[in-house]
Amino acid sequence: MECPHCQNQKIVKNGKDCHQDGKAIQNYLCKGCSKRFNERTGTAMSRLRTPANVVSFALKMRTEGMRIRASGRVLEKYHTSIMRWEQKLASQSQQWSPPAPAGADITVEGDEVYTRVGENLPPQSQKDGQ
Ligand SMILES: [Zn+2]
Repeated sequence: MECPHCQNQKIVKNGKDCHQDGKAIQNYLCKGCSKRFNERTGTAMSRLRTPANVVSFALKMRTEGMRIRASGRVLEKYHTSIMRWEQKLASQSQQWSPPAPAGADITVEGDEVYTRVGENLPPQSQKDGQ
């Protein structure tokens, strides 16, 4: 977790807001720039949206023993992003394997990973011979 304004990691919790959907949103205060933000504040990190195939490539490279910075350079991604994918996807490897179909998106949002697979696909039974 870091400040979306100055990337400082010296942040402190600063109370919670209760939103209409009933979820409490943690607020933070940055010790570096004294700005406030919350866990939904738009940051480069929270908006990072990486195609599933890129994530898949990254994880394959890592599986093949490629160093994380090298993988990042090849994919033009921050190695910290790859680390995050590894951490997040390792804990949900059952959903991840087999890999998501091409065209599916993985949204890495803050500390959460959402896989969006098959949202717009027809039911399996209609795939052939319709
Ligand atoms: Zn800051």
